[in-house]
Amino acid sequence: MKKIIVAVDGYSSCGKSTIAKSLANYAGYTYIDTGAMYRAAALYAIQEGLMNAETIHEQALREKIGNIHIDFRRRTAGEGQDTFLNGENVESIIRTLEVANAASRISTLAFVREELVRQQQEMGRDKGIVMDGRDIGTVVFPQAELKLFLTASPEIRAQRRFDELQQKGVEEDFQSVLNNVIERDYRDTHREQSPLKQADDAILLDNSQLTIEQQNELVRKLFEEKTVS
Ligand code: C5P
Repeated sequence: MKKIIVAVDGYSSCGKSTIAKSLANYAGYTYIDTGAMYRAAALYAIQEGLMNAETIHEQALREKIGNIHIDFRRRTAGEGQDTFLNGENVESIIRTLEVANAASRISTLAFVREELVRQQQEMGRDKGIVMDGRDIGTVVFPQAELKLFLTASPEIRAQRRFDELQQKGVEEDFQSVLNNVIERDYRDTHREQSPLKQADDAILLDNSQLTIEQQNELVRKLFEEKTVS
């Protein structure tokens, strides 16, 4: 069976990672969460004092961008993987709203995107990956054999993110989560650098009304169609 690249793009909190992880697991592929890479880069900038709630010290960040090394490691206990920034496990800290907002701001900078896109292309060199993000099918791997573009209503996405945060014990009120979703949609679709946009050859999947099982079934069928030949 031939190995392919699967690109999963779409709005924030619409279940990209759920679909991507499940497909990677089914196919025996590597799952790469590019949002986690922008979050880790933002965390680096915060920790180095290169950005705060108001400003980003662009020049200083540009000089240090090559020092950001991100990798994903499988958990030894339980399922899933963790994000590592320069050898340190940053998985839980990058999931906070503070880091999500910082990631959304830092991801508008061309030199940040260039560096992370370079790392992502390197990770997919041998194919056999499912990568999720905003620009995978348009910029990172325009040649990806299977491209999915996910969407769901802002309220449904905010509710999912709210439930997820609660499960993790993170305290946030629903309205802030919804505002964050709306703000990030706006920034993702209006930024100059690689704005979120459906690739011409991507398959649109609105999962507002689909169960995870229905979604998985659909996506596996599409995957089989691309690989069995
Ligand atoms: O997907 P996630 O919410 O973790 O992404 C965090 C932020 O990183 C998003 O707000 C988005 O602006 C940015 N991002 C991006 N390009 C990607 C993945 C994420 O600009 N490929």
